[in-house]
Parts: sequence; C-alpha cells; structure tokens
Amino acid sequence: MGATYPTVDNLVIGGGLAGSMVAIRLATAGRQVTLLEKESAANHKVCGEFLSPEAVQYLNQSGINPLDLGAATIRFVRLSSKQRVVETSLPFTALSLSRFTLDEALLTCAEEKGCKVQRGSVVEQLNNQDNLWSAQLRSGKSVRAHTVFLANGKHDLRGWERAHTSQGDLVGFKLHWQLDPSQTDLLREFIELFLFPSGYGGLSLVERDVANLCLVVRRAELRRIGGWSELLASMLDDNRHLKQRLQGAKALWDRPLAISSIPYGHLAAQPFGLWCVGDQAAVIPSFTGDGMSIALHSAALAAEMCLAGESAEQYNHRLHAQLSLEMKLATALSRTVVTSAGRNLAIFGLALAPNAMSAIAASTRIPKQALLASRLLAEAEDIPPRSS
Ligand SMILES: Cc1cc2nc3c(=O)[nH]c(=O)nc-3n(C[C@H](O)[C@H](O)[C@H](O)COP(=O)(O)OP(=O)(O)OC[C@H]3O[C@@H](n4cnc5c(N)ncnc54)[C@H](O)[C@@H]3O)c2cc1C
Repeated sequence: MGATYPTVDNLVIGGGLAGSMVAIRLATAGRQVTLLEKESAANHKVCGEFLSPEAVQYLNQSGINPLDLGAATIRFVRLSSKQRVVETSLPFTALSLSRFTLDEALLTCAEEKGCKVQRGSVVEQLNNQDNLWSAQLRSGKSVRAHTVFLANGKHDLRGWERAHTSQGDLVGFKLHWQLDPSQTDLLREFIELFLFPSGYGGLSLVERDVANLCLVVRRAELRRIGGWSELLASMLDDNRHLKQRLQGAKALWDRPLAISSIPYGHLAAQPFGLWCVGDQAAVIPSFTGDGMSIALHSAALAAEMCLAGESAEQYNHRLHAQLSLEMKLATALSRTVVTSAGRNLAIFGLALAPNAMSAIAASTRIPKQALLASRLLAEAEDIPPRSS
C-alpha cells in the first residue's frame, strides 16, 4: 500500500475541458481543489474542434477568448456525399481551435485560479467508504477527498463503467493536415461535413491555417475494410469533394489519433454521490459539434449547484432534464446517417432544403433556457471580438 496524500475537499479526476472548468469555478469561489490529470504535458485529442457559441461564452466567462489563441471563425456549413455538395450558412457564428491549445489554456487557467494541478497522475480506482472518497493512483499513492468530480472523458474508470449505449459501435479518427493553399482558401469560414459508407466526418481550419479532419466509422466496416489507410482511400474514392480538398495536402502526423467504442447517447443516470461532468455525464454524437459546450455547461452547472449546497443527485436530475431531448434527437440522426438509406436521404433532402441544416444545427444544441437557468448566459449568439 502506497502513501496517502492529506485529505482534500474537492478532487477533480481529469483535466480536459470539463475538469478544468469545474476546478476554475470552485477555485474562483475560494474552494480548495485538487485536479489529477493523466497526461504530463499538453496533447492532441480526437475531436472535430468546432466550438459552438455556447462553448465560447463559457470560455469567455473564465477569461479565455479563443480568438486570442488563434481560433478560426466558422459561418457556413457544406455537406458532401458521393458527387453531391450542399451548402448553407449556420444560424450562428462558431469558432474552431485545436484541443492541444484549448485544453492547455483551461488547465493553466485552473492553476492560476489556485487549483492544485497534478499532471502525470493516473487514477486507477475510486472507492467510497463512510462518505469519504479514495482515489488510487498508478504511482501507488492515493488521494482522499470529501467531494469528487469525475471528468475523465470517454474512457471508464474501473468500477464506474457506463451502461451500454444506443450507438456505441463507432470508432473515431483525427488527423491534422496542411492543405494546398488554394484549398485552404476554399475551406475558410466553412465546416465541411462529409458522409461515406458507415460513417461521417468533418473538415475545418483551426489556428495557423491547419486543417482538422475528424471522422467516425462503424467498427464492423473498419474491420471489413482493413484499417486507416484503406478507409482514407475508400472515402476519397467515394466522396469527390473530399478528394479535391485533400489533393496535394500533407498529413502533419505519421498516423491519426484514434478512439474506439465511443459511448454516444450516454446520459448519466445514477451518480451515487459522484459529480459526473463532461463526457462522464453525457456523450452527444459528434456531428452536432455540441460535445464541448455540454462538457463546459455540465461542469459549470455542477460547480454552481455544489457551491449552493445541492447534491450530486439533484445536479444529475437537472442535467438529465435539460439534455435528454437534444441527446435523443442527435443520437437518432447519427444512427440514421451511418446507414446507406439514411445517407441518401440526408443528401437528397438537404439538396432540396439546404436550410434544414441550419434547423438541425439549432435543434441539437443545449436549450437556451437551460443556460439561463444556471444564470450563466444572457445571450449566446454573438462571438465577442478578439481582445486588443
Ligand atoms: C470523433 C469526435 C469528434 C468530436 N467533435 C466535436 C466537435 O467538433 N465539437 C464539440 O463541441 N465536441 C466534439 N466532440 C466531443 C468532445 O470532444 C467531448 O465532448 C469533450 O472532449 C468532453 O470533454 P471532457 O473534459 O469530458 O473529456 P476529455 O476532453 O476527454 O478530457 C478527459 C481528461 O481526463 C484525463 N483522464 C482520463 N482518464 C484519466 C485517469 N484515469 N486519471 C486521470 N486523468 C484521466 C484525460 O487525459 C483527459 O485530459 C467530439 C468527440 C468525438 C469522439
């Protein structure tokens, strides 16, 4: 049995968006917070890196302006499948910033607010005895805490596995590219969504004109086809628009980042006194571009309710009520577009009514009244300008 650190008031497990946001809010309110993050340095994550206005507002409230970090602006959406392309404007202005930059900015902010951040600390197990939590670290040490916020993202902590989800058979990939300059210009201000057999993805610029390609594919299709190289070749073969975009492009990494068994559709049910935030609370299908705003919202709500003396169960109940409709709609759409009939329906339907893409984008976001209920946002449509 290894050493035990002194008991802490608030322990946050995971220093992604949700963990850092909880830590920032609790530390700002003067609470003692310790955060354990597995990685010892900033790193890339599988993510489309599309920041909705709600996410941007939550970041701004913590003093982080993504535009100051080099974020690209997104005003339009273009959908392609086989030979067809449909485009329209988004009903809001969004931003796009790499997770490498964004997560590091948030974690640094948490540290600056007074949170004790321990990087390179992997939690292997979490137990509760007599209302006191104990987190066992890989190093052999353990940390005891009165309150725990579980913010370890998509992967489960042993003993706290999430239930089977309605669309848990997708594998995600992400790769950064340097596009040909003419293609970079054509991509500017667009999020380009593309459909291919058994999957879908997105391409957009992040800071420094780097293009982020992120996609999900059914595991069975990936197995059938062979692997990443075969998948990329078959996507380019299938989708003329994507092929043109990547013509002459240079991949910036040797191989893509990958994540398997994404628990899409997960909405936390029973927290047993544990404050589940971010992907531990809810995992919405990626095409909505709303996962990060849900992560930040759930974290802000959890911190606010904890500070107000409410319980993890009350928080969970409220979050569930706020998100369940959005989650059901997004998961049903995601399950549809990975089928061949759904893919055809999507592209033909949207060719006839491109504005439906705006309606879908608007209906798969956190309801505004939920944001107002947590007294956090007055108006979430406008992106504040870059600070001078
Ligand atoms: C393919 C794909 C595309 C997406 N695209 C978008 C998009 O374009 N826009 C959008 O808004 N959302 C998108 N999302 C969703 C978004 O990425 C997540 O919702 C968001 O990252 C959740 O934040 P989090 O803080 O809960 O988890 P994470 O960001 O995953 O952070 C979890 C943190 O916990 C740490 N950790 C894990 N295990 C341990 C442990 N045992 N001990 C200590 N630390 C640990 C990890 O290192 C990590 O830093 C996408 C998701 C996928 C899969």
